[in-house]
Amino acid sequence: MTFCYILLAILSFLILVFLFFYIHFSRYTIEILLRDKYIIKPLTDDRKYRFIRLTNGLDSFLISDTNTGVCAASLTVGAGSFQDDDDIPGLAHFTEHMIYLGSKSNKPGDFEEYLSNYFGITNAYTENEKTTFYFQVGCKGFIKALYMFSRMFAEPLFDVNFMNKEINSVNSENCKNSGQDPWRQHQLLKQMSNPLHPFYRFNTGNNETLEYFDEKTLNYRLRRFYDKFYIPKNMKFVVLANLDIDTIQYEVSQYFSDIRLDSLQNDLPPLYGLIKTNESPFTSEYLGKIVWYKKITSVAALDLVFYLDEVISHYKTKPTNYISYLLKHTGPGSLFKTLDDKRLVTKIDAGLITTFKNFSLFSVSIELTDEGFEDPMSVITTTFAYLNNIRNKDVSEKIYDEIHRTSKIRFKFSEKKENYGDYLASLSSSMFDYNYKEILYADEMHTNFNSTIIKSFIKKLTPSNCLLFLGSNRYPNNMKFLNQLFTNSKNKTEVWYKTKYIDSKLDLKILEELTKTSNFVNFIERTPNNYITSQDNIVSCLENNEQCYEEINSIKPTMYYNQTNLIVWHKLDRSFLIPKVIININIISPFFRNNPSDYLVFNILFNYISDRLESLTSDLKETGNDLEIKFSENGYFIQLYVFTDLVDQIMTELLEVIFNPKINAKNFKDLLKITLDELKQTKDEEPRQKAERYFTKILKFNVTTPIEIYSKNELQDLSYLNFNSILESRINTFSVNTLFYGSMTTSALKIQIEKMRKYLKNSSGTKIIPLIEYLHAHKLIPVPVIFRISNDLKNERDDVVVNYFQVGVRDYKHSLIMNIIEMIWGNMFYYRLRTIEQLGYNVSANKQIIDNNMYFVFLVQGNKKNPVEMNLEIDQVLWRLRDKIISIPDKKFIEILNSIKTELMKKDTNLKERVKKVWSEIENNTLDFKRKEYLLQEIDLITKSDILKAFDEIFIDDPKKMSIQIYASNLFFNKDNQEVYYLNANLNYHVTQNVAVLDSLED
Ligand SMILES: [Zn+2]
Repeated sequence: MTFCYILLAILSFLILVFLFFYIHFSRYTIEILLRDKYIIKPLTDDRKYRFIRLTNGLDSFLISDTNTGVCAASLTVGAGSFQDDDDIPGLAHFTEHMIYLGSKSNKPGDFEEYLSNYFGITNAYTENEKTTFYFQVGCKGFIKALYMFSRMFAEPLFDVNFMNKEINSVNSENCKNSGQDPWRQHQLLKQMSNPLHPFYRFNTGNNETLEYFDEKTLNYRLRRFYDKFYIPKNMKFVVLANLDIDTIQYEVSQYFSDIRLDSLQNDLPPLYGLIKTNESPFTSEYLGKIVWYKKITSVAALDLVFYLDEVISHYKTKPTNYISYLLKHTGPGSLFKTLDDKRLVTKIDAGLITTFKNFSLFSVSIELTDEGFEDPMSVITTTFAYLNNIRNKDVSEKIYDEIHRTSKIRFKFSEKKENYGDYLASLSSSMFDYNYKEILYADEMHTNFNSTIIKSFIKKLTPSNCLLFLGSNRYPNNMKFLNQLFTNSKNKTEVWYKTKYIDSKLDLKILEELTKTSNFVNFIERTPNNYITSQDNIVSCLENNEQCYEEINSIKPTMYYNQTNLIVWHKLDRSFLIPKVIININIISPFFRNNPSDYLVFNILFNYISDRLESLTSDLKETGNDLEIKFSENGYFIQLYVFTDLVDQIMTELLEVIFNPKINAKNFKDLLKITLDELKQTKDEEPRQKAERYFTKILKFNVTTPIEIYSKNELQDLSYLNFNSILESRINTFSVNTLFYGSMTTSALKIQIEKMRKYLKNSSGTKIIPLIEYLHAHKLIPVPVIFRISNDLKNERDDVVVNYFQVGVRDYKHSLIMNIIEMIWGNMFYYRLRTIEQLGYNVSANKQIIDNNMYFVFLVQGNKKNPVEMNLEIDQVLWRLRDKIISIPDKKFIEILNSIKTELMKKDTNLKERVKKVWSEIENNTLDFKRKEYLLQEIDLITKSDILKAFDEIFIDDPKKMSIQIYASNLFFNKDNQEVYYLNANLNYHVTQNVAVLDSLED
């Protein structure tokens, strides 16, 4: 008897063990497609890779990175707007939105809320043939996030109630797009195509298209779209985590293997790239035309769009890259140089604008000067003559070889990217198009030189295979050209964004004129690139080497040189193994934003410098180096990211341009015009960008911003003489603050210091003012104040409210408290104000550091409610936030603290990310290179009551609130509109339009 029991017990144990293994290990079968050793990688890449196929047919790309603190995943569906139902434009895009609105296991908003607990974000976008969803999150929260993400695709709700709300969101997204030139231009291009091809259609969708049918029908179509296209065989998936590759494989198979198992029953042909028609999007009927259309922004533009064969299958040759390599050249004999010498253009770009499974579109985009706009025919004939020259020549293997060599260097020494979400999105999308073993290299591959293929693409660059778009927001002075071309044309309006345009077929006479090569003299294909590194190996400092201890364990640079007008910081850091250095150069002048005329002079000089550096910059980018120049708070900021062996050569060229500007009278006239135009362009910005500028303006009175330049006219008359005398005296005030960070030794550094000293020799030696002192003008907000501003852009429909709450100077405790409050609110502002209230497409809540001062910033842009009401809505969410803080469980609070700790301990991804931290300490003169360590010590001292106390101080008792409200110009704008304050009814607001109000309030 006993024996029987034992046998029974053993038997049931065995069954249990079997069940356990069955459930946990063999529930899903996995096919390994490709192992790590077969995948082509960059030189410094220490990640492990694997491709697998799950039971349900989902191909998944696994990436293991044991050093990362951020984990991520991305899923691309091989269907997009081309697959929309004919009678519901925007269906694919709407499906993308609806996928986020709840699954059987998660309520709408749960996923975003969960991600926000671990510094995570998620996003998605719909293209013509693909739709991509991705997220990134602190690795601690990864496994659950991965599970929640998988449920979005496995069991979406497509709830009718949320469907009706989300239509507003899509509509508001479309409203935002409709005010932007690139969207309008693209839609116009679509309108010029064959209506029988899906390229013709409108992709975004709006109220009109999505409410065309009743909600039941829309819901049915939504489900039908999902049923057909959201199947594993038509999806590609990528995941990156800090786990070993087998564990990642296990987790992925657990959560993703059950997605749409039903789809295995039908044996469908591949869906990616499948369209219902055999029609071509552009036949000769639709090509060989010129279109003149109305732009919103002021820069006149000329675009030559060519209809080409598909290029995806030629990714090892990339025939169009050969063409753009020539077109983007700016040296002698180039298209740009020729047109620039005649002052007809300011910029030329060339490349593919879209690639599809069955065709592609290549464009040459040209920004015209006023002269160019008055005489577009010269630009058009010169450009075609240039293209004809290329057509008449053989494809140069030498030039192709340079493209191949430089792209190989870029790939070989490429560092890890910071934005994993975006990076993984590009990978899951690429999986549809490239061999898996080349997935990392594919975008840079030029391994297959094939002159026949390249030539076949070059042959298509003819006027009759092209659409010419000329865009402007005004008429030219000389109407002859336009009258000639469009005599028999009617005015038309594009259907979706209402862009006004007029089009005409190019006649034979013009076509003939455009095929002459003689319009282009001194044609030179390309001069060699001089910035190709000769280094070909990694650099490193090994941990067991005593000298390297300091190098590896600290990010603190040394102040290597310190004189009145030159400070040089230096740090040898080879931990990222690449033979490169980052050089930050801040050129400072105390006069920089002093008054409008100084500001204008510095803007003109900036344009001169960037113009002169343009060809250097593009040469550097091609060779895996980088050069960036922009405005800083107190002057110019330049960043070089270059191979160490090229530093000397590049610095010599750079300093000469900056310190020895050669601006003659003729040059000056052009520069002044370009600069004023550019400053005026800020008028065309979105309301939320304008709000930001007003905030800067209001907070720093004695700081000049573009607003003054475009609202005042007297500056237009700046003379060359005046300009020169101001410039000369200002260059003498230049001081330079620099950081050399990376694989650079002190002996190489000394040479660069000498070089800079020589240029600064004549400088009168203004002391370097740290940003923190320079910004003493940065005001404290004394009482809550509201600025009501009416938008000066006529066709803007959105209002905006941006509420700033000033917290104070950046200290450890308050930075942590702000971090914690931000984590407690999680997704609530977005969820309440966008998902539920549908106030507009742009809704955000975050914390910002502006000039070492900390702020909470809440933004809503939309046209559903007016700013007074929007302000109120933000307050109401703040009220809810207070309740959430009060009721937060201890366990959850500790989780948040831990999450912040993990985030703080995260390693830097690449050299640039590290230098950003180091530089912010130098720039602000805070020099706190151990900030991270101190924050980690401080965080354990913070209690829940600290948070509530701080919340009440910041938002209720003594709010230093500034609300910037910009009213769409066509709406009623009343400055006496009453304000109600939810959080503290006793509080009075100062409502004003006067930007000088802070001064008077302080008195
Ligand atoms: Zn969208």
